[in-house]
Amino acid sequence: MGYVASRSGQQGGEMSLFQCVECGCCENTACCNYHVRRAYGQPVVCSACDPDIREWHGKFARVFLPLGEFKTNRVGNLEHIATGSEDFRSFAIVRAAAALAGDREQS
Ligand SMILES: [Zn+2]
Repeated sequence: MGYVASRSGQQGGEMSLFQCVECGCCENTACCNYHVRRAYGQPVVCSACDPDIREWHGKFARVFLPLGEFKTNRVGNLEHIATGSEDFRSFAIVRAAAALAGDREQS
């Protein structure tokens, strides 16, 4: 009786998706300071929200999602908590000029 090949995902793959806690966009853990920030107990944010980077990496399109509604699931995909859907793009929010300008001014 041998080992049970258990991959609970607790070790955290190097390449998984997460939701930025600031802007709510979908980000890849490999494209920003995710692991460093987690190690230091800082909020995990995307490269554009990270004060050390301040720039979207451009490796894939930035997709904004409803803040706090997504989590990283066991296989490293972004999952909509309420529905269990991994098709996060169908939840994308269209942000007009504000996102392009990188300006969060609100009237
Ligand atoms: Zn962000």
